[in-house]
Amino acid sequence: AAKSAGKGVALVFAPEMEARIQERVLLEGQLREALQDRQGLSVFYQPIVSIKTGQVTAREALVRWYHPVRGWIPPSEFVPVAEQSGLIDALGEFVLTTACRDAALWEDGARVAVNVSAAQLGRDLVAQHILSALVNSRLAPDRLEVEVTETALLDEGRDVIGDLRRIRALGVRVALDDFGTGFSSLAHLRLFPFDKIKIDGSFVKEATSRPDCAAIVRAVADLGRRLGVTTVAEGVETRAQYACVREEGCTEVQGYLIGRPAPNGEEDELEMVDSCQA
Ligand code: C2E
Ligand code: MG
Ligand code: MG
Ligand code: MG
Repeated sequence: AAKSAGKGVALVFAPEMEARIQERVLLEGQLREALQDRQGLSVFYQPIVSIKTGQVTAREALVRWYHPVRGWIPPSEFVPVAEQSGLIDALGEFVLTTACRDAALWEDGARVAVNVSAAQLGRDLVAQHILSALVNSRLAPDRLEVEVTETALLDEGRDVIGDLRRIRALGVRVALDDFGTGFSSLAHLRLFPFDKIKIDGSFVKEATSRPDCAAIVRAVADLGRRLGVTTVAEGVETRAQYACVREEGCTEVQGYLIGRPAPNGEEDELEMVDSCQA
C-alpha cells in the first residue's frame, strides 16, 4: 500500500497506530452524538474548602461521560479528543450552562469553578457563552470562576489574555490551574491578574515526604499572600498532607480527603474538615 502512494510518499502505519486512530475517530463520533442527544454527559462537583473557616467556598465542575459500551471514560481521555476535533466549544458550553444552572440553586452561595481549555480561548467565544449562561441562570457573575492552565497562556497566535480580560470584565473570577507544572509560571502571573492560584497536586502529594516540595508549596503560598491571591492546595488525600499545606500557608484545600467529585447535591458531609480543624 505504501508503494502505490507513489511519488516517494510512503504512508506506513503500524497496526497498533492504525487501531489507535480508528479508536479515536470512533470516540469523536460518539462524543459528537452524546453532545447532540444530551446523553451520557454530566457534570460532577468537588468541594474546595477554606482552611480558616472550614466553609465550602467553591465547587469545581468536572465533566463526566458515561459511554454506552465502555462505561465511565475519564476526561483525560475525551477532553483532548474534544480539543482536537473542535467539539470542545460545544462541550465547554454544556459544562458552563449546567454549572451555572446548578450553582444558582446552591443554598450555601458557594462559587462554581469551570475548567476552560486553551482550545476554547482566543476567539472571543467563551465570554459570549459565559454571558448567556449567567443571564439564563441568573447566577451572579462573582459566583462563577474560570480555571485555566498555564499551557493555555502559551498560545501566542491567539489573543488568550484578551479573552481572559473580557471574562474578568464581566465580574467573573479567573484562577490559574495546575500551577507549577507549566513553563515560566512567574511570567504568567505578571501577564494577567489572576484571582486564585491552584498549586498542582504533584507538589502537594510529596509535600509531607520531600522538603523541597514543602518548600515549593510554601513559596507559592507566600507569593499568593503578597499578591493578595487565594492559594488552593490541589489533591489533598491525607490528614498529614492537610496539616502540611495548612502549615505552609495555603488558604484553601481540595482533594479526596475533603470530598470526591460527586453529582450535584450528592456531596458527602464534610466532617473531615471539622476534625482537621481541631
Ligand atoms: P483539573 O482541572 O486539575 O481537575 C482536578 C482533577 O484532579 C480532577 O480529575 C479531580 O477529580 C482530581 N482530583 C481531585 N482531588 C484529587 C485527589 O485528592 N487525588 C487525586 N489523585 N486526584 C484528585 P478529573 O475530573 O479526572 O479531571 C482531570 C482533568 O480534566 C482536569 O484537571 C481538567 O484539566 C480536565 N477537565 C475536567 N473537566 C473538564 C471540563 O469540563 N472542561 C475542560 N476543558 N477540562 C476538564
Ligand atoms: Mg481545574
Ligand atoms: Mg488542577
Ligand atoms: Mg489537572
